[in-house]
This record gives sequence, structure tokens and C-alpha cells, in this order.
Amino acid sequence: MNTESVAAAVSSTVYGYPRQGPDRELKKAIEGYWKGRVEAPALRETARELRRDILRRLSESGLSEVPTGHFSYYDHVLDTSVMVGALPERHRAAVEADALDGYFAMARGTQELAPLEMTKWFDTNYHYLVPELGPDTVFRADSGKQLAELREAQELGLTARPVLLGPVTYLLLAKAAPGVAADFEPLTLLDRLLPVYAEILADLRAAGAAWVQLDEPALVQDRGPAELNAAARAYRDLGALTDRPRLLVASYFDRLGEALPVLAKSPVEGLALDFTGPAAANLDDLAAAGGLPGKRLVAGIVDGRNVWINDHEKSLAVLGTLLGLAERVDVAASCSLLHVPLDTAAEREIDPGILRWLAFARQKTAEVVTLARGLAGGTDAIAPQLAANRAALALRTGSSLVHDPAVRARAAAVTEADGHRGLPYPERAAAQRARLGLPLLPTTTIGSFPQTTGLRTARADLRAGRIDQAGYEERIEHEIREVVSFQEEAGLDVLVHGEAERNDMVQFFAERLTGYLATRHGWVQSYGTRYVRPPILAGDISRPEAMTVRWTRFAQSLTARPVKGMLTGPVTMLAWSFVRDDQPLGDTARQVALALRDEVSDLEAAGTSVIQVDEPALRETLPLRAGAHAAYLDWATAAFRLTTGGVRPDTQIHTHMCYAEFGDILRAIDELDADVISLEAARSHMQVAGELAAAGYPREVGPGVYDIHSPRVPDQAEVTALLRTGLEAIPAERLWVNPDCGLKTRGWPETRRSLASLVAAARSLRAEL
Ligand code: GLN
Ligand code: ZN
Repeated sequence: MNTESVAAAVSSTVYGYPRQGPDRELKKAIEGYWKGRVEAPALRETARELRRDILRRLSESGLSEVPTGHFSYYDHVLDTSVMVGALPERHRAAVEADALDGYFAMARGTQELAPLEMTKWFDTNYHYLVPELGPDTVFRADSGKQLAELREAQELGLTARPVLLGPVTYLLLAKAAPGVAADFEPLTLLDRLLPVYAEILADLRAAGAAWVQLDEPALVQDRGPAELNAAARAYRDLGALTDRPRLLVASYFDRLGEALPVLAKSPVEGLALDFTGPAAANLDDLAAAGGLPGKRLVAGIVDGRNVWINDHEKSLAVLGTLLGLAERVDVAASCSLLHVPLDTAAEREIDPGILRWLAFARQKTAEVVTLARGLAGGTDAIAPQLAANRAALALRTGSSLVHDPAVRARAAAVTEADGHRGLPYPERAAAQRARLGLPLLPTTTIGSFPQTTGLRTARADLRAGRIDQAGYEERIEHEIREVVSFQEEAGLDVLVHGEAERNDMVQFFAERLTGYLATRHGWVQSYGTRYVRPPILAGDISRPEAMTVRWTRFAQSLTARPVKGMLTGPVTMLAWSFVRDDQPLGDTARQVALALRDEVSDLEAAGTSVIQVDEPALRETLPLRAGAHAAYLDWATAAFRLTTGGVRPDTQIHTHMCYAEFGDILRAIDELDADVISLEAARSHMQVAGELAAAGYPREVGPGVYDIHSPRVPDQAEVTALLRTGLEAIPAERLWVNPDCGLKTRGWPETRRSLASLVAAARSLRAEL
């Protein structure tokens, strides 16, 4: 092929973009609307303006094909439910009365009506609203949103490609509606759903869309024959339609695996594949499958879910290989850019030398454009960009933030023994019993107490310079005093300091560890109008000084009862951050573990007899494909043991987990070798206690008896009943009494009353034993 014909064939695109706007304008407008301060037309206008702004930015960056339809007031899976008319029965009237209010009612619930359930979008930290389907579900096409957003791009003269969630993934993400047998399989509705997609595709075609993208990320998970068959049928049928645009089926987050030949054989005109991280295996898979003759391949080569600049030379090599495997190769980010912040230019507090090796959505778009030009025109066409890229990569590799020889030497010297407690559990338990002198069914909490507006104001005051560090610390000490004396009066056995000094359980530690970066504007959508600013784990991790000892020691000075030290574990520190991509995750986890190990040791030296290392994210970080689980759990549990393995036998190590079904990590929970684990359990009626018992779990367990997700106050009888259920599985000598999770989102009044119920229930049961 000569250069010119290649040039004509390479286009650049992305699948989606951050929705919030440079200053989170969308969040402000939506929340204003909820509060009645913003009228619906004003909200719509803000949204339209933000979409226009995205389109302009994308086209100015030189992107040849812009995505449309990916914008959302809350969530794109909910938008898909609206598009196919799959509204929960209970919300139908509200949606018919007012589409916008009905939409928000489905997302957030109302006084009377429960919202849709929310859950994690694959292994990202974005949450979607789970479609509720049943045998009676009637689908009905509503192309309105897609058509309107396509038109907006056309009005700007852009080549637009509508992006829709594909029918197979939509059904695989759904669950049985309330009142429908739990074993109902939404995938059985495929034949009913396809005609609705056909209608929408025809509408988009009529409106001038040459290509439409159907996202099928669910196909990167382990899928059985029935599911692969459904995918084959779906794309055979949609492909056979005569009145339709060309179809691009997109997958991301992992390799397509068994679904690759299925889609390759289907009559769709194009596939979009991820070539980053574990999905890089798509390259070999594609070659082995004989490529995609006659099809368009969109190569997701710029990592869409992390914040590092691309390595252009490496990417061009991959893209060059791909050229031989498809009719036409285009360049894209690996997934929607929804999962990264908007623009590094807003980060004026990060060293400019470091900023050069970070890329957010705006920078990633430019990278895609550059790579497409390089692929089309050869390296000469992008010589200045390549030189700048090489220089920025060199800055990263050579940075002293990234490479700290002392940290590396220490990590390399870790031995098997460092991860093992000196004595086996039964002997430790005896030593701890003697030291702590706790009653049967000891009571405790998970760490945080209500984060009052007073506390948040104090933090804001400190940042703004309205109070100084000493003034701030006084306010924290005051809070700790209150929390400790409340717990003493309430009669809790193992106290906590309440975590008043922590803005967030990951951010607090990230701010105190060398090797982590914080952003000022690096907002990423978690769900709806909730945005988080994940810290960036950029370099080798070390701990310049103790992080928590001051407050734990202060709390302990106020009481004779044991005060539990409270740390965030290494796996959770990684899970809720952007992690480095230049070394295996296990290596990063080990460095974080060593820093935390020093904190554990300092707490112990300060007299702390109970130390809790939270790992709420252990389960959610499980890789998408089962084949990768064992390797993940190996390094994850090793990091936890390295954090906690250095303490004396009579120091009691606790851990805590939530947000999860624990069925598939029971063995990993055992391998943590923590003396006590507290788990979320109230809503599942202590199910996890039975599961742990059945698995032969030998240590102490605190299945939560108080659901902290709602302001509802459990009474003593309710807690007692849950504890009796717990006692059927776990003997009294090993059962703890605690809430499901921390109390930071709760108010004081319900916290007081709920903990009173909890202590009363424990006491009355103790009297029976
Ligand atoms: N110790 C933390 C707290 O109580 C645990 C939070 C969590 O599990 N997410 O807030
Ligand atoms: Zn929790």
C-alpha cells in the first residue's frame, strides 16, 4: 500500500468522554434541579452546552469521528433501559407523567418508590443502575435521545458515530425484577429485544449515521456456550437487516477470548478491541484467528482508564502489526474516557515535569489523533510529537519520585517469614485473651463516627487558612474526646478514635505517603452526580513519618479500654487510586504494604493492642476473568500479611470488608490470617457467618448486625435475633458484635440509638451463655 491510500483509511475516535464539564457544571445543574433551584429547561440547556463543548473539543483536537449518545444525566445503562422501554413497573406512571423526574426517580428512588439497584460497572469504580426485567417485560424503541445527540454533532458538521450499549451486554447486566423468580434469565429476552434494536438502528440510519457502535464489554468475561450463542445470534440477526448503518461491535476492559471468533464470523462490519493491559492478548488472539478479513478494526491502544501517557513507539508497532490483520485499522482509546479526569492543564499544583507524563481525557484524545496520523503517514508525519513523547517517557523513567533505590532494595529483601505471624492462631488467641480481657461477644465499631458538618468545615477552614494547624488539631481532639466518652458510656468494649481527621480512607494515607500524587480537579464519575478524585500512585512508596499514631495515642490516653488503631490496607489503597502501569500490581502492593507495616509497628510500639487493617476492596478488585483470580489473590493476601505479619502474638489484628458477596474469596479471607474479621452481613441475615463456618474458618468473626446504609435504627430484639443466627454458625468464643461498616455517613441521633441496641443485645445474650 502506498502512504496516501493508508492515510485515507486511518481514522481516530473515542467511545465516550467525561460528562461533568470542566467545573462539574453538570453536577451543579442536576443537584440544583433536585433542590428546585434550577428549572428543567435550564438543566437541559446546560447539558446541551456541555455536549456541544465536548464535540468542539473533540473536533478541534483533530479526531476524525466523534461519538454521540454517550452523554447521560445519571447513567448510560439507565439510558439504555429508557431507550428500549424497559421501565420498572413501579416507576412507569412517574416516567409517563414527567420523563425527567421519572428518570431521576428510577435512579434515586422517591419517598415511596425504591430506586433501581446500583452496582459496579465491570472492574471500574463507575456504578450503573441494574435493569430489572421479567418474562412480562415488553420492549419498545425510543430513539429520541440518540437521534437528538446525533443531530447536535451533525449540526456542527462532524462525522458522528452513535454509541449504544449492545443488546447482549444489556441483558447480561440485568437482573430479575422484584416479584419475578430469582432464577429468571434476562438473556432469554434476546429475541424480543433485537427487533427494538433493529428499529433504533433504522432510525439512526435514516438520520444519517453511517456507522453505529454497539458496546459489548460483557463479552470479555468468562462466557459459556449459551451466552456465546446469544452473541452469535444477536449479530447474525442484526447483521442480516437490510435497513441499517454499518455496525461496530466494541469490547473493552479485557481480551475478547472465546467471543472473538464469534464476532469475527458475524456479518458486522467492524470490531473495536482493547489492546491495553490484560487485553493486549487480543493481538495474538487476533493473529491466531486469522485476523478480520474484510472488516474494520478499531484499535483501543490508548489506555482509557488510567492516567499515564501512551508509549507511542510501542503503540505504533502494535498498530503496524494490526494493519496486516484487518481491511482497515483505526485508532481509539481502549474504552470510554469517562473513567479518567478531564484535563491535566487544570492541575497547577503538580510539578510541570510530572504533568508531562500524565494524560487525562483531553491529552488522550490528542494521543489518539497523533497515533492515527503516525499510522497513516509514518513516523515522519509525527516526528515532533514522537520526540516529545520520548522525552516525557524518559522524564518518567528517570524521575526520583518513580524510582527510590531504598524502597526497591527493601522490597527486594522481603522474605516469606516477613508475612507470617510468629505463632499459630490458637496460641495468639490465648495471648490476646490474656492481654485484652474482653468479655464473650465483644462489642466494637468499624472505625469512623459521624462526619459532622463541623468537621468538614474545620478541614475547609484549614485549607483556606482561616484556622491554622494547631487550631485544626484542637477541633479534632475535641471530636475524639466526644467519641471516646460516648463509646465508654455506651458500654462498647473495643473503642475507636472515630477517624475525624480523615477526609477519605484512601486519600488520607495517599496524602501522607511519598510516591502518591493528589489532583485538584481530577474528578471522575463514581455514580450519578457523585464524583471522586482518586489519588495517583505514581512512584515508589515510602512513609516519611507516622500517619495515625498521634490520634490513636491521644484517644488511648483518654480511656482504660483498648482503642483500636485503624489503617487502610494495601489492596484498597491500590483499588481506589490510579495505579502505576510500569510494574506488576503485586510489586506496587508490596511497597504500600511495607509502608503500612511500619505504621502498624509504630502503633504497636505506642501501646496499641488492637490494630484494624481495612480491605473493603479485596473482593471488588478480583480480575474479570476467573483464570486471573488465583494470581491476584496471591499478591493481594501476601500484601495484607506483609502489612500485619510483624506484630507480637498478643497484638490483635482485625480486618474489615464490605460491599460484597464473599463466597468466592473465602479461602483468601482465611489466608489473610487476621485474628478478627468484621464483614457486612445485616442485610443478608448473617449469611456470611454460615459460609465462613462451612468453609472451616478458624478465627474470630464479626458479621455486621446493623445496616449502616440507612438511617433506620435497629432495636435490641432485631440485633439479638441476628446474633442468635450468627451463633448457630460461629461459637460464642469467636463471635464479635459490630455494625456492617463505618458510621461516617450516619447522623449522631441514629448512631447513638443503634449502638445502644447493639450493646444491649450483646449483654443480654452474654447473660444466657
Ligand atoms: N474504617 C473505615 C470506616 O469505618 C472502613 C470504611 C469501609 O469499609 N469502607 O469508615
Ligand atoms: Zn465497610
